[in-house]
Amino acid sequence: MKVHNFSAGPAILPASVLEKASEALLNFDNTGLSVAEVSHRSAQFVKVIERARALALELAGLDNSYEALYLQGGASMQFLMVPYNLLENKAAYIDTGTWANKAQKEAALFGEVQVIASSKEQGYKSIPKNVVVPTDIDYLHITTNNTIYGSEFHSIPKSGAPIVADMSSDIFSRSLDYSQFGLVYAGSQKNLGASGSTLVLVKKDLLGKVSRKLPSMMDYQLHIKNESMFNTPSTFSVYVNMLVLEWIEAEGGLAAMEKRNKEKANLLYSEIDRNALVVGYTAKEDRSLMNVVFNLTDESTKDRFDALCKEANISGMKGHRSVGGYRASIYNAMPLESVQVLVEVLKEFERTA
Ligand SMILES: *Cc1c(COP(=O)(O)O)cnc(C)c1O
Repeated sequence: MKVHNFSAGPAILPASVLEKASEALLNFDNTGLSVAEVSHRSAQFVKVIERARALALELAGLDNSYEALYLQGGASMQFLMVPYNLLENKAAYIDTGTWANKAQKEAALFGEVQVIASSKEQGYKSIPKNVVVPTDIDYLHITTNNTIYGSEFHSIPKSGAPIVADMSSDIFSRSLDYSQFGLVYAGSQKNLGASGSTLVLVKKDLLGKVSRKLPSMMDYQLHIKNESMFNTPSTFSVYVNMLVLEWIEAEGGLAAMEKRNKEKANLLYSEIDRNALVVGYTAKEDRSLMNVVFNLTDESTKDRFDALCKEANISGMKGHRSVGGYRASIYNAMPLESVQVLVEVLKEFERTA
């Protein structure tokens, strides 16, 4: 049975990646051992993490002034690791939703946090525009894609200070100049692989400038020095990351991802705009290519819509508890065919009303 997985995260993975990962769970690189039972210091695994780190930098188009790390604790750990390493006096945050909020809350434990723009009043339906970024800050933090509200920065604010970006739900989904960021982080479980690892891309010359002492596990420089092996990495998650990055490259890189993601998003948003029984949540100009959030115009039709989804083997569409309604997550690995199935269901839903 083919299930169409629209889950927000952990999320869909390319079928070819799952096949390779399941082979490696039984016999990894002809060792006769599982990728889940070999030493992280074995030559075979060192090759995996080195390749994943190199591919991440390559896909981002970053040179060796940056470093790629695989850490643990999810994006949520980066909410505090970023200020630990970068916040000396003051940081600016743009408040575009729940995750941005959580990030700024952690940073406030370390220094002054200035929320320079917020779309909270609008129920986070939009992205603040024409934001003036102060110059007396250590960094500006943004959440490029708001997984819960389905909004995305389609242009990145200009900032004299380094920009830190939480890209958990849109990393490597479009062509983007990654060198405009000082630090990028993303939990694996949306666009990169299985949960358990977090990719960090960091410009090395931003580090080592704060006066506080850093616990070892919080210190980016120490992780860099230890080649992302200060302690045991989440080996299976890093392995799946490597396969996903290889898949992105083989598919044609970020430009190819963007082309397909736009095609999928346009198809789905056009139907949502056309269909009188549903209404999109997010401001049109700020709609995400990754998370499509919508509501039913008449809540009493819910059971009928849910039944149609179920019948079509559509899974994972329930909206986040703070927004309600529905959220179709259409990450890189989501095939166009599954989006077509959802569009057909929406049409059928209207036809049979
Ligand atoms: C899912 C998500 C997070 C939280 O990630 P964890 O890995 O669970 O900590 C943070 N930010 C964004 C934008 C997300 O989508």
